[in-house]
Amino acid sequence: MPELPEVEVTRRRLERELVGKSFKQVVLRVRQLRLPVPAELAKILPGRTVRGIDRRGKYLLFDCGSGWLLVHLGMTGFLRLLRGTSPPGKHDHLDFIFDDGRLLRFHDPRKFGIVAWLTGDPLQHPLLAEIGPEPLSGAFDGTYLFATSRGRRVAVKQLIMNSGVVAGVGNIYANEALFRARIRPDRAAGTMTLQECTELAVVIREVLEDSIGEGDACLVAEETVAYYPQLFKVYGRGGKPCPGCGELLDEIRLGGRSTVYCRTCQE
Ligand SMILES: [Zn+2]
Repeated sequence: MPELPEVEVTRRRLERELVGKSFKQVVLRVRQLRLPVPAELAKILPGRTVRGIDRRGKYLLFDCGSGWLLVHLGMTGFLRLLRGTSPPGKHDHLDFIFDDGRLLRFHDPRKFGIVAWLTGDPLQHPLLAEIGPEPLSGAFDGTYLFATSRGRRVAVKQLIMNSGVVAGVGNIYANEALFRARIRPDRAAGTMTLQECTELAVVIREVLEDSIGEGDACLVAEETVAYYPQLFKVYGRGGKPCPGCGELLDEIRLGGRSTVYCRTCQE
């Protein structure tokens, strides 16, 4: 599943390439995604110029002037920027064709993505209104995390994966951040001290920024979603030696998700 760093890398790349370009045509081949893609996009978008591309959580927001094109990559979606006329393959559900001849193609085998048109303040839209603070913003820090976790018995890992608490921290980065912060993922959130919350907020930002940096550095292909497993210290490494102490990493299920941690290094 694309996580926040992949979406941010996509955003930065598309912003460099598409701001100032105008939509010429929209080709809708499959409209039944997680929500039906509005057919009127084919009428609304042509002639509009991309003024900027923002991100909220894992949603991309194309500022089209008096309206926003919202794109969520779902479980398996990605966007490809192609030159000229490239015949669509299986699962290439939509094309946005630009006035410079390039096309932005939405590919999504599981069809869990969202493509929508928003007017008014996009942040008040029901899809976006309940999302917590951005983890890379100043609004997310130890004081906030401490206040939010008081009295909560939910596991720390599930707390930080709750998008209402903080935007866009998925399973991979939750595992990695808790390892760096030396906090056991299954601890009750309310038992964290202010110091631990501060450390956790810092390392969540670090693991996300490291991955964004890696993605920016290795953009070679047209595909805009990639993972950087060379950065992962615990994710996908259950039963292998801890990079900190050499003991074997434990793997448990927490909230139905694979959770890897070191019982020696994390408390
Ligand atoms: Zn260890």
